[in-house]
Amino acid sequence: MEKAFDIKGSIVQAYIVCKRQAWLLSRNIGPSSDNPFLEIGKLISQEYYKNDKKEVYFDGVVLDLIRQEDEVLLVGEIKRSSRAKNAAILQLKFYLYKLFKNNIKARGKLLIPEEKKTFDVELTTDDIEEIETLTEEIALFLYSQLPPQPQKIKACSKCSYKEFCWA
Ligand code: SF4
Repeated sequence: MEKAFDIKGSIVQAYIVCKRQAWLLSRNIGPSSDNPFLEIGKLISQEYYKNDKKEVYFDGVVLDLIRQEDEVLLVGEIKRSSRAKNAAILQLKFYLYKLFKNNIKARGKLLIPEEKKTFDVELTTDDIEEIETLTEEIALFLYSQLPPQPQKIKACSKCSYKEFCWA
């Protein structure tokens, strides 16, 4: 039996956008470090939300930031743009699911400071079922020995694997 891969939030998000990207992330194949969009992403999280705890490691995932609000933990996920909003919300729900499984009550907020947008995110019973089904599907997918062939999609233009896939 092959080893099981850790399913991180970034892999869940990538799986929705591009399965090849999810496979590459699962093997720790690093994106190109000179990708300007990665650098911009880091700067955005450093620049905004200075008073929050950032990059909190929890149960195999990294939470962008956390803060306590009215007895409930608020988990923030910071994105550069709202382009892949639905995938980002699912990623955040995956974090809320992990916290829920550890008996931690939490709410989520998707933060897009450059667009001055925020979206509240809650974990519902339907989400729990969806996430459990999806993570089983991802776990099976990650067993494949090779990544899927690259497919030109909109996300390629700003993807940190662009050079890797298309050079
Ligand atoms: S460059 Fe395109 S095909 Fe390659 S991993 Fe990124 S989104 Fe997927």
